[in-house]
Amino acid sequence: MVGREYGGPPPQPKPYGFVSVTRGKVPRQRPAGHDDFEADLVSGTITGVITALTPVHVASGQIELTGKREPPLVKAHVRVGDRPVIPGSSLKGSIRSIVEAISASCIRITRARRDQQPKEAVACQKLDQLCVACRMFGALGYQGQVRFSDAVLRGNRTEIIQVPPLYTPRLQARLYYEGGQIKGRKFYRHGKLAQGNVPVEVCPAGSCFDFSVQFDNLTPAELGLLLIALGQGESRLHPKLGGGKPACCGTVEIAVTELKVVDMATAYSQYDADMKDADVNTYLEAAKELVLSDQLRELAELLRYPSERECPNRNY
Ligand SMILES: [Zn+2]
Repeated sequence: MVGREYGGPPPQPKPYGFVSVTRGKVPRQRPAGHDDFEADLVSGTITGVITALTPVHVASGQIELTGKREPPLVKAHVRVGDRPVIPGSSLKGSIRSIVEAISASCIRITRARRDQQPKEAVACQKLDQLCVACRMFGALGYQGQVRFSDAVLRGNRTEIIQVPPLYTPRLQARLYYEGGQIKGRKFYRHGKLAQGNVPVEVCPAGSCFDFSVQFDNLTPAELGLLLIALGQGESRLHPKLGGGKPACCGTVEIAVTELKVVDMATAYSQYDADMKDADVNTYLEAAKELVLSDQLRELAELLRYPSERECPNRNY
């Protein structure tokens, strides 16, 4: 109400919400490593397609000339060679944050004091005591068991649109505090794209990107957790990728087109093993032992799509 009294814009509903941090135990163990295939673990490749539901912009850090009068300059989308891509690191970061939120994982990125963090969820410290997200996606000194390719745009068509100023939240801002304690992990909701006055190069809604994820020595439950974070299963999560999340850029849908796993019957070594098709549902079922159902429900509600919500045209 203060804003109205002083003639400012009316308050807008916040474009984000929080998934509560688990109060429960964060199981930790030695990661499986990469050297040999283990009989009760799964290794293989997920192949998929990412479809942009709103424009996607991943900043290259370059400002480019458009050769036109309006706008003369534009923030360019990142490319590898001449192909626009969503970098594997960007995709991995987004999928990791979903896995962290829906499983009993540590709070990795924070400048919070130790006494502000739930005791169980303090960031993993020892390489032989890693939580599930650190085992899968890596920790300082450990490479992790999943590797994301860049997601490469089919065709080469980009557009220039005008969005509100893109704003990258500080690390601290990815968490929600209450009474000086970390209570939640922050996620931006989906909605109708906001207009602004900053010209950016985007991959427009409808763009398709091809990507793959290689994984080695995951438990069946960990592979299921990865597939849920990639939007498979009943919860059908729609991640957000790239910049302009508050303005509702970067809403995507992910389809898994192929899941191939190493056929252990033929796996004498990881260099000559045969691959076979596997059923996604088997692993979604196995994931139940790792998924926190309350947190998955909270996240599915936050990431609900489609959404008629208006997205704010200013910074958050
Ligand atoms: Zn951890």
